[in-house]
Amino acid sequence: MKIFLGPAGVPAGAPEKSTLGALRYLAGVGLNAMEVQFVRGVAMSPEMAEEVGREAERLGIRLSVHCPYFVNLCSPEPGKVRASERRILQSVERASRMGAGVATFHPGFYGRLSPEEALERVGEACLRMRREMERRGWDEVRLGLETTGKQRSFGTLQEVVEICRRVEGCVPVVDWAHLYAREGGRLDYAEVFEALKGLGLRHLHTHFTGVEFSPVGEGRGNEKHHLELSSDQPPFEPLAREILRRKVEITLISESPVLEQDSLRMKEIFRSLGYRFS
Ligand SMILES: [Zn+2]
Repeated sequence: MKIFLGPAGVPAGAPEKSTLGALRYLAGVGLNAMEVQFVRGVAMSPEMAEEVGREAERLGIRLSVHCPYFVNLCSPEPGKVRASERRILQSVERASRMGAGVATFHPGFYGRLSPEEALERVGEACLRMRREMERRGWDEVRLGLETTGKQRSFGTLQEVVEICRRVEGCVPVVDWAHLYAREGGRLDYAEVFEALKGLGLRHLHTHFTGVEFSPVGEGRGNEKHHLELSSDQPPFEPLAREILRRKVEITLISESPVLEQDSLRMKEIFRSLGYRFS
């Protein structure tokens, strides 16, 4: 098993504010993962994506990408669904050039649909995207459906697992803070790993940060904003223990306000529990 730690996007400490600069900085401080952010659009050229891929490989950093936020695969307007698929596929294309394993996205919003109807729509969209990815030779990239932190967003753990069960090439991206917020501050790490068991994943891609949420009834909440790891909401150490106990090969992308500093804290916690980073 191997553990991959690093930030979402270019870290604050990187002297050179570019993806290449970020990779060199992360390798220097001893981190081995980074999620390239296309959340406001895919601004990186195809050539740069290839260069980033070569540099990441040289430095031993595992890459993933985060697709634009402006995505709704449950929209009642077919044009908006197609535009969402195009945005995801554009990120996938760059991910493929970079050698990134996962392209993460938030699937969409229920709107007027029932959860069952939304699940059908997301499943159909994922199937269309996977077919296109196979045609284009991008199919080694996984479509990563993220668990979401708000009641109106499609993406409970069960929903994400169900899509991944139905559509080959889709994987869950477990956002631990989102699960915690959505369930009103409840999060049983062992339960999550059990729910994922049937998928037979070789690698689990996840996001971690502390999070503030507003409760909306018994066992339900909406995420408000991200907090540092030291907030202990949710607590990181029990997760680290569960990962080591189950020997899960995992990536933990830090989305905390202090990004890479919290990745380094996670590294310390794993070390204190006896894990040795090579
Ligand atoms: Zn996300």
